[in-house]
Amino acid sequence: MPELRKDPVIGRWVIIATERARRPDQFNGRTNGTPKVDGPCPFCEGNESQTPSEIYALRPNRSAANFPGWNLRIVPSISPFLKIEGDLQRRGKGVYDLMHGIGAHEVVIETNQHIANMADLNEEQIAKVITCYIDRINDLEKDIRFKYVLVFKNYGWPAGGGRIRHTRSQLIATPVNPKRVKEELAGARLYYDYHERCVFCDLIKQELESKDRLILDIDGFIAVVPFASRFPFEVWVLPKKHSCDFTSLDSRQRLELAKTMKKVLSKLKIGLNDPPYNYVLHTAPFRRQKAGYWKSIDYDYHWHIEIIPRITRIAGFEWGTGFYICPIAPEEAADFLRKVEV
Ligand SMILES: [Zn+2]
Ligand SMILES: [Zn+2]
Ligand SMILES: [Zn+2]
Repeated sequence: MPELRKDPVIGRWVIIATERARRPDQFNGRTNGTPKVDGPCPFCEGNESQTPSEIYALRPNRSAANFPGWNLRIVPSISPFLKIEGDLQRRGKGVYDLMHGIGAHEVVIETNQHIANMADLNEEQIAKVITCYIDRINDLEKDIRFKYVLVFKNYGWPAGGGRIRHTRSQLIATPVNPKRVKEELAGARLYYDYHERCVFCDLIKQELESKDRLILDIDGFIAVVPFASRFPFEVWVLPKKHSCDFTSLDSRQRLELAKTMKKVLSKLKIGLNDPPYNYVLHTAPFRRQKAGYWKSIDYDYHWHIEIIPRITRIAGFEWGTGFYICPIAPEEAADFLRKVEV
């Protein structure tokens, strides 16, 4: 059973993923270079037997589960960080807090074709991926053990993308709210308390006016390089219309978001020579807590996607301070990405 442990000083939870346990001598300090892939791709159509049994699939001709005939599939992770069965048993041990590592860890296989980068899917297919994120978040919300679902993507080996070059993303439902999300919620609420406006809405308005860091303005969405970028060519995608909840997107908005994502990811691919990248979806946590707990979240929080090309490494200063050193001005990065033709 994996375990969640809380750092007693700053309150950060970590996952001790014992399911992936290796003996200490199996860890190797030299982890450079992409390892070779052997055997057929388990995520391609026809190889369904190589993945755990599917949780969800789009099967236009109603073909049988775990057989060919799908165009998008979700399966449990073969090496989950968290386990779906059991209860949390949150407890204290002296100064320490811990609980069972309960959660859901799912892999979204975004296409039946052997395509590596989401940038190369068509808009309709990306919109289907967005719909399946929404369906899974809504379904996982029914499990009252969970407080949050993080949707994310690791593309390329240096971004944690694994050996197999078949486009996929992941969802992890957690029994505690992630620290990063809580920091954003707290910051947004503080700004709202003072200004009675959403900080993200204000930021969007300013970026649309100045255009200094604006990459795209498509229908209901914008893509910007954030003012205080942590990483070179970091990009945020935000809905122009205020909403704290990603799952509230209607079908037209899903297609518009797909269009925006395809453009941004294609610009990164073409402009930066197909870099590894991560993206994360930041949306409101499940709102079924104590009365009043998320009282103002509908007004003060604004969902968004953060895309981070992995072209620099986090080094000692970042680890030691929480400061990030971004080697290019966000305005220059935005100007470059704006000019990349896709
Ligand atoms: Zn494949
Ligand atoms: Zn807003
Ligand atoms: Zn965020």
